[in-house]
Amino acid sequence: MFEALTQKLEGIFKELRRRGKLTPADVDAVMREVRLALLEADVHYSVVKDFVARVRERAVGHEVSRALNPAQQVIKIVHEELIATLGEPARLNLSGPKPRVIMLVGLQGSGKTTAAAKLAAQLRSQGERVMLVAADPYRPAAIKQLQTLGERVGVPVYYESGVKPPQLVARAFEQAQKGGITVLIVDTAGRSQLDEALMDELRAITQKVTPNETLLVVDAMIGQEALNIATGFQQAIPLSGLMLTKMDGDARGGAAISIRAVTGVPIKYLGTGEALDALEAYDPRRLASRILG
Ligand code: GDP
Repeated sequence: MFEALTQKLEGIFKELRRRGKLTPADVDAVMREVRLALLEADVHYSVVKDFVARVRERAVGHEVSRALNPAQQVIKIVHEELIATLGEPARLNLSGPKPRVIMLVGLQGSGKTTAAAKLAAQLRSQGERVMLVAADPYRPAAIKQLQTLGERVGVPVYYESGVKPPQLVARAFEQAQKGGITVLIVDTAGRSQLDEALMDELRAITQKVTPNETLLVVDAMIGQEALNIATGFQQAIPLSGLMLTKMDGDARGGAAISIRAVTGVPIKYLGTGEALDALEAYDPRRLASRILG
């Protein structure tokens, strides 16, 4: 999803490598171009500003003037600072009594139900006994979809009609406990926009069962709007992580780069396709290498 940005940065670095010594003015000129490329890719301006300031501070200092290969050194600093911006590698908190609860929240169409099935399949392959919970009674299609996906990945799906989500999740938890389930993945209701009723319901669920993880599923294709959505959810309920979906799309990618820095919430997974195995544990080094080509 970073094709345009990657191409631009490759061009800038190629030009940089042609030069021998680098003066502070050269570094400034390069950083102006990098800054522009990031802004064009839709990276949040405050993140770009901090990033450029950090690179510049290191690059005009001793690190570069003393280096045998100054251009290479600048590129290395860009790489390291990009990794720092992208945050830490994914760690799912699966400690404590079983079943551990992973609650997925997000807007309709974000890829939440698909992500629930992908995560179920991945955890199952790691030896967990997984159960999915369809906690979206308002959209029968969503329940059906989760049931179909559950069947495809071989994971049972808990659902009861006519039961409100907090109660439904509590009953699923009880059944999971009796049945030796180790991980319960709750697919909560999605709405077309952020609203108080949804937030109240999510909070009510967390009062019934304490989630080990509350992961916000966000579509990375929607650009800066992803940051607004993440901030909105974060103000309403505590989030432990982000799942960015549709990373295989051709958007400019900036939201994926800035969302960790803007929200402070770590990214834990990337969804990279419609297939049910298209889920990657988040690795900032790998993402940085992808962006920098
Ligand atoms: P929900 O409404 O949030 O539960 O969203 P769904 O799970 O139904 O997904 C909405 C659409 O996005 C579906 O057509 C999915 O196949 C698609 N989708 C989900 N994740 C990805 C992804 O990582 N990449 C791509 N290309 N499509 C995805």
